[in-house]
Amino acid sequence: MTAQTYYEGITHIVELSSDPSNNCELCSFRIRSNIAESINHYIKENGYKLLHVGQQTSRDQDGNLFQLTKALVDK
Ligand SMILES: [Zn+2]
Repeated sequence: MTAQTYYEGITHIVELSSDPSNNCELCSFRIRSNIAESINHYIKENGYKLLHVGQQTSRDQDGNLFQLTKALVDK
């Protein structure tokens, strides 16, 4: 399977986080810490597809570990 075939239909990926800091890239919807609301917004309001949901480990200012949920959606 060629890369062109494998990625057919995937044109523009947006990364969503449970630690949001911005708005939807297409409208003024405020991305929420409830990542499901953000994913639902992109799917229902803007017609994106959900590609992936995963976990990311980060450290806060004091060096303590914390978990973030990340999601990738595609236009
Ligand atoms: Zn939007």
